Amino acid sequence: MQNTFEHALPDAQGYFGEYGGSFIPPQLESIMIEIAAAYEECRKDPAFRTELARLYKHFVGRPSPIFHAENLSAKYGADIYLKREDLNHTGAHKINHCLGEALLAKKMGKKKLIAETGAGQHGVALATAAALVGLECDIYMGEVDIQKEHPNVVRMRILGANVIPATHGRKTLKEAVDSAFEAYMKDPVSQIYAIGSVVGPHPFPMMVRDFQSIIGNEAKEQFKEMTGGLPDNLVACVGGGSNAMGLFTAFLEDDEVAIHGAEPAGRSLNVEGEHAATLTLGEPGIMHGFKSYMLKDKDGEPQEVHSVASGLDYPSVGPQHSYLKDAGRVNYGTVSDDEAIDAFFELSRLEGIIPAIESSHAVAYALKLAKQGEKGSILLNLSGRGDKDIDFVVEHYGKDYGIESLI
Ligand SMILES: *Cc1c(COP(=O)(O)O)cnc(C)c1O
Repeated sequence: MQNTFEHALPDAQGYFGEYGGSFIPPQLESIMIEIAAAYEECRKDPAFRTELARLYKHFVGRPSPIFHAENLSAKYGADIYLKREDLNHTGAHKINHCLGEALLAKKMGKKKLIAETGAGQHGVALATAAALVGLECDIYMGEVDIQKEHPNVVRMRILGANVIPATHGRKTLKEAVDSAFEAYMKDPVSQIYAIGSVVGPHPFPMMVRDFQSIIGNEAKEQFKEMTGGLPDNLVACVGGGSNAMGLFTAFLEDDEVAIHGAEPAGRSLNVEGEHAATLTLGEPGIMHGFKSYMLKDKDGEPQEVHSVASGLDYPSVGPQHSYLKDAGRVNYGTVSDDEAIDAFFELSRLEGIIPAIESSHAVAYALKLAKQGEKGSILLNLSGRGDKDIDFVVEHYGKDYGIESLI
């Protein structure tokens, strides 16, 4: 069963209304056209689809279940359901598009997958896919993040990937993107830049969305089977927007389903640099090869952004989200760092599930809806598990939740 909306957008040039497109140097233009053509072939090819379906089932462990969070529901007065992407192999939804990108690269005869990573989650998922499919893998990572996210660096190395430090500027995510981009420009033929969300030039926002749409396709069937109908509300956190598009796509034409995206309000929405609420406070602009809402500083450059969740820390957003915001189909609201951490402990202690801090933004948003009087059902995407976050949370917030320093 395919959703018709999925095929209606983007147009042949990669536009979702006025957003998306491809704003890249001429050397990369022909490569993107090649990737788009190869993808078009793959998505129609039964052998490609069968192989991806096999990996989703037997490697990732799909379908991921839906869990009715009864304790949370009883306390907050709405019927809250979790789509358990945290149970996937490697612990989040990212493996869904990494496997798709790796199979596509293999099919195109590429030798190497390259990407940037911030906290290391995309790097680990891509290194995993590269190991499985039999491709080399270079992951670019800021030197500061390499220090901070040591366990993920070790994982990538064990999986056989090279981790290449970005040593200029602030030595974090943006510099990692610069370095990966530079390396890609040098050799766009034997390598492929496997983008980590529904962002970047066409065809990546479409392709990553299609690979992730398995989330919503499964959820729709599962929810119908469990309850006999559709959920009243969907909720997902929005960084670049891939887990959100993954859940939303199957439901876009179901007008009775209200759809909500939760952006990070960080420490304050009133101070530039203290949040990453792109759709809430941004304006249309172009960065990283595509047009979308973005947070600009006074010179029109991407703002410094902050979120307690490093996976949500991005000054732009997937172009389809910009389209859906303007079309009024999806409501975008915000969740602060503190609200996310509160939801992190609430889900851990009421349901026995430790969520990623990114996913905790979706949990917090669902709780807000309930507090505002929503009595119907809320299906939220639990995009990942919190193992990666436990040391950070205990160090910075432990004593507020009755945990003394463990070290
Ligand atoms: C990377 C990440 C996100 C944010 O990315 P999207 O493209 O917005 O989905 C959200 N949750 C988890 C667990 C992640 O690892």
